[in-house]
Amino acid sequence: MVVPLPEGYLPYFKAWEEKIGAFIEFAGLRSEAGEAPRIGPGNAGIGLPFAVKDNIAVKGFSISCGSKLLEQMKSPYTATAVQKLEALGGMVIGKTNMDEFGMGSSTDNSAIKRTNNPWDQSRVSGGSSGGSAAAVSAGLVPYALGSDTGGSIRQPAAFCGVVGLKPTYGAVSRFGLVAYASSLESIGILADSTERCRAVFAAIRGGDPLDQTSQDAPAGAPALFGEARSKTAPRTIGVLSPEAIARAISSEITGAAGEAGEEAALQAAAQAAVLENEVARGFELAKTRLRALGHTLVDVDLPSLKYGVPAYYTIATAEASANLARFDSVRYGRRPDWAENPDDMIDKARDAGFGAEVKLRILLGTFVLRSGFQDRYYLRAQRIRGGIRRNFESYLGSPDYSDSKTVCAILLPVFPTRAFDRGPGNLTPFAQKAADLYTCCANLAGLPALAFPVSVEGGLPVGVQLIGRAFAEGTLLDIVESYEASHPFPHPEGYKKFWSQS
Ligand code: GLN
Repeated sequence: MVVPLPEGYLPYFKAWEEKIGAFIEFAGLRSEAGEAPRIGPGNAGIGLPFAVKDNIAVKGFSISCGSKLLEQMKSPYTATAVQKLEALGGMVIGKTNMDEFGMGSSTDNSAIKRTNNPWDQSRVSGGSSGGSAAAVSAGLVPYALGSDTGGSIRQPAAFCGVVGLKPTYGAVSRFGLVAYASSLESIGILADSTERCRAVFAAIRGGDPLDQTSQDAPAGAPALFGEARSKTAPRTIGVLSPEAIARAISSEITGAAGEAGEEAALQAAAQAAVLENEVARGFELAKTRLRALGHTLVDVDLPSLKYGVPAYYTIATAEASANLARFDSVRYGRRPDWAENPDDMIDKARDAGFGAEVKLRILLGTFVLRSGFQDRYYLRAQRIRGGIRRNFESYLGSPDYSDSKTVCAILLPVFPTRAFDRGPGNLTPFAQKAADLYTCCANLAGLPALAFPVSVEGGLPVGVQLIGRAFAEGTLLDIVESYEASHPFPHPEGYKKFWSQS
């Protein structure tokens, strides 16, 4: 049986989409016959229309990655994660806007269009999966796929007030995801409820012969579906204490200050990581509510946190410079009209095709990989990465489940601010990078992290995140699902619920 889109959906979609601009391509509006897309029934809330970030391949759809260079590109094949959802009745309704190649925290780095936050259209939706987050937040889709290299699912989820899951590294196949920083990123989920997030994750996870870094959950990892009692079981949750946060931020200045002239930039970076009052209030509220639900909260310190951003940007840009080398207008991308010779053709294509942020990161990446400098930057960043992983494991336990630890998750803020506006004086590109402090460590350590909304402060959502042991998505989802049962997630004004859970 196939059922049409819900009554009244298309006008609702059009009205929202004009305001927020979440989609780069929308299948429903593309249909020339004026026929509504057909939806097949699936199970557990999956057999519905869903949206896909425009760096994840869906056959016949755009795969622009938010870049001019790939604006005309159509994908010849479909990513494994999408195939698995389609097999359960899910239907791709469109491709969503994003920061170019996933580089950014606002989606304003898209070369295609702007995406506005459904809660306040003068503000950004977050990034880089901003289109997916905005589409879910406005109720245009019940769930969407995104990708998270350093926070790109969790940060827009927090900005738009939806659930965002970055799975364990390798838990979901990356086949069909256009690579930005291969060792850090995962395909993940933005959803209108924790229950749906769980169902979608259960559908897309698992080892895939087309991605050699993917794997099934090891024996001993918490089950995704268990008895009802496990969802509400009291747990011991670690919390990054205010002192630990303050230490991570202040040593970001004193620890790194070196050459003259750097002081001001470092001060600005440290300032950018300080939680704004509304976010700090939301974080406190999350703690109070988790305690009220019976969980025990214990303070944890993550001394390595302060090295997270420098290590992340060293590794991410190094990998990006290699991954983006393929966009040379021979294999992918638009060719220039005229060129002197092949090298000139490649130069011209990349110069016209890439935006400023992408060029900056390619330069940074080639700089840190320059011969004679690997020790100083790249290898050092890799050692820091190991330290961050060990730091988390000392609380959460090892990925092979050979030991047991008492803390089953660690609660952290997602981003120091709520959705920011585009006015001058707001977060500069440098400050935006410094603000990745809270999210990028889960990527460096390869751990799962689940962001969820806790409150609305001054008209904008505030989110927090739980980071868990490798392959412990089930635990994170249990905690948040029982939290959501007592504290339903908020919706922006004008939101209409079209999608049931099943
Ligand atoms: N803000 C981070 C960056 O710009 C995160 C990006 C991501 O997760 N794709 O690199």
